[in-house]
Formats: sequence, structure tokens, C-alpha cells
Amino acid sequence: MTHPLLDLAPLTAGRFAAIERRVATLLATEQDVLITQGEALLPLEGCIRSGARPGSTALNVITGPYGQTFGDWLRDCGATVVDLEVPFHTAVTADGIAEALERNPEIDFVSLVHAEAATGNTNPVAEIGEVVRAHGALFHLDAVASIGAEPVLPDAWGVDLCVIGAQKAMGGPAGVSAVSVSTRAWERFAANPAAPRRSYLSLLDWKERWIDRGRTALPHAPAQLEMLALEACLERIEAEGLDTLMARHASAAAATRAGAVALGGGLEPYVHEARDAAPVATTLRTPPGVDASELVARALASDASLPLAAGGGALAKEMVRVNHYGPAADRAVVASSLAALGTALAAMTATPVDREAADLAVTTAWA
Ligand SMILES: *Cc1c(COP(=O)(O)O)cnc(C)c1O
Repeated sequence: MTHPLLDLAPLTAGRFAAIERRVATLLATEQDVLITQGEALLPLEGCIRSGARPGSTALNVITGPYGQTFGDWLRDCGATVVDLEVPFHTAVTADGIAEALERNPEIDFVSLVHAEAATGNTNPVAEIGEVVRAHGALFHLDAVASIGAEPVLPDAWGVDLCVIGAQKAMGGPAGVSAVSVSTRAWERFAANPAAPRRSYLSLLDWKERWIDRGRTALPHAPAQLEMLALEACLERIEAEGLDTLMARHASAAAATRAGAVALGGGLEPYVHEARDAAPVATTLRTPPGVDASELVARALASDASLPLAAGGGALAKEMVRVNHYGPAADRAVVASSLAALGTALAAMTATPVDREAADLAVTTAWA
């Protein structure tokens, strides 16, 4: 008996290359685009280990937990790391980056997370890109949480390494990811004796065996199911329109912020300024004395399908994440999430909440 998930015809090199072209279109890039056969941490680690080396100095911008991880990798590669940490309720500024580059002219690699789903902030990459380009450093961007939710334009912004995954706003699979690589970045990798080769982390292997040979023969068996899911995900985005998809995320973020404020009960947008808030997910600060993980557990007890989570690590006490991305970038999902949080909050504290006002604010902000 044939099984729809198991007995598939092999995924051809031609189809693999066609999916890569669709990703390049999504990123509006003419750089080389490579689909990497693993979750997005694979190309992120591959980029850092290929670009950083002893003797190099990296500026590592920390606006959430991913930036912290990247700093560890950069140090592990022997690079000197200049950490630029900003409070998680804000975003980094282009001026802040320019100052760090002026203080440390030897910086030759800049690593930035565009948007952080884990902290709910987003950084002004277009302005930062100008500063980094003027300095001449290689610019590495984690756009996993921004792609599909807000513009991601590596060519226009001068991003040398732009990593995306489909599992957030794209509403796609988590098991494959992609990276766009500039000519400058390939040169830097090739000149780095410590860059991974003959390794699962190696981007250079894929350049030599796949890109430079005209994308005609795949070097390894591809993650077939994930590739098909990515293809379906790209088709769905093309059918909806990228602009419509991004507008849906912007509406979800605006509605969640407005709804939380109208709800009352002491829930507040975690990211102070709306312009610093990521369209992919909205973080909320719980009132003093209300444990965020308990609040989320209570809200999920009423409806386990809601896209709610408590913050990671120490943030679990004070941060609620409304992960309104992909199919959850939806007005009804946002309204139900706030209603469930309101009911749970009212049960935990004596403060009144106004769920009708929250509903109205969601509807108004969505339009
Ligand atoms: C979600 C995300 C990733 C991918 O990591 P997972 O934990 O596997 O989902 C990478 N970077 C950022 C900024 C993300 O938000």
C-alpha cells in the first residue's frame, strides 16, 4: 500500500533549485540563496563559524536570547567580541551601532537579530545597514522572526548573510531554512582557514558542490518532506501576497497592544514604543505579583490552542508572549487570546478587567 508521506518520487535537483529561486524572490535578492537542510540554527551557526576567526573582531548586538547565543559562538571561534546589549523593552539604534564601530574600528563582522519573537522587539535594519556598510564590516542578520511579518531586503540594506526560517510568520515547516550569501561573504569564508569544510555546518561545501556546479546534482539526499512543505508554504504566500501577509502581522501586533491596554488589569506592552515592537509577536508585562507562567497556564487551560507562552528563563515571571504569527495572525485569535488572559487575570487578582473594551480595541486597531 502506498503512503502519501512515505512513498514519494525523489525530489529532483531542478525542483530543489526552483524552490531556492522562489526564496530569492521572497527576499528580493540577487545574491546566492541556499536552502539549508535543518532548522535555522544550522545556517546561523554555519555563517558565524565561516565568517568569524581568531584575529577578527565582531560586534554582537544583543536584543534578546538569540543574540546571546551568537556571542557564545563568536567567542568559541576565537573572535574578539564586542557585545552591544540593549534592554529587551527597546530596540538598538543605528547611532548606537555607529558609536560602537567608532570606538572599535577593528570590527569586521556585525551580527544582528532583526526581530526577536522571544522578546517582541524589532531593530531598524535599513538604517543600521547603512552604518555597517560605511564601516565595511560583514553584516550577518537573523531574519527568522521577521521574514513574512515585515520587510526583509538584504540587497537594499547591504546584508551579506541573511538567514530565514519558515516556521514563524511564513507559517511553514521548521526543518529547513535558507540563507542569502553575498560575494563578499563567500570571499571571506574562502579566506578563513577555520571555516567549516566537509562538515554539516559548511556553507562552502554547498557552494562548491551545488551552486558552482550549476545546481544540477544534489550533494546529499534532501529533506524531502520539509522541502515539499516549504514549496507549499511559498505557494500559499504568493497566493495571499507578501504585502497582505505582512499587513496581517502588523494588524495583529497593533491589535494586541491596543487590546491589552484596553483590557486593563495591569497588563502592559513589554516593548515601550510601538515602533520597536515586532509584528511577529507581542510581548506583555504582567502586573507586579502576577507570575506570567501561571497566568499563561490558566489562560491555556481554557483553550489550549491559543498562541500564548510565557517568556523564557527569568522572563517567565514577568513576560507573556502572544505568538500571533502565521495562521495565528488573525483578529479572532488575537481577541480570544486577550479574552483568555483577561479571565485568567481576573481570577488571580482583585483588579477588574474590561474584556468588551479589549474586544473593541482589537477591532478598531485591526482596521
Ligand atoms: C524562532 C527564532 C529562531 C529559530 O529558533 P527556534 O527556537 O528553533 O524556533 C532563530 N532566531 C530567531 C530570532 C527566532 O525568533
